Amino acid sequence: MIRAIHFTDLAEMREKRLAGSIYAGKPDDDGEIAFWYCCPCGCGLIAPLNAGRNFKPSGAGASWNWNGSQTEASLIPSVNHVGHWHGWLTDGYWKAV
Ligand SMILES: [Zn+2]
Repeated sequence: MIRAIHFTDLAEMREKRLAGSIYAGKPDDDGEIAFWYCCPCGCGLIAPLNAGRNFKPSGAGASWNWNGSQTEASLIPSVNHVGHWHGWLTDGYWKAV
């Protein structure tokens, strides 16, 4: 398992590129956020997921239900970064399937 270290500054997260680190953006009017993660495989890639705080955004495209915690973050469903890594973020830890 990999600890999901959370950053409060996206620029700092981009600079350090720690595998599995996360950054939760500010909610928009619909309560949706950009949930940024650094690929747990260690490649350094950083990408945003469309997530809702305690709900799964509807509409086109993939989306995730985030539990609202930065320190013990969970996402549903699993995160599949095709060709890199596939697994779950649960209570602040990434676990590969
Ligand atoms: Zn990767």
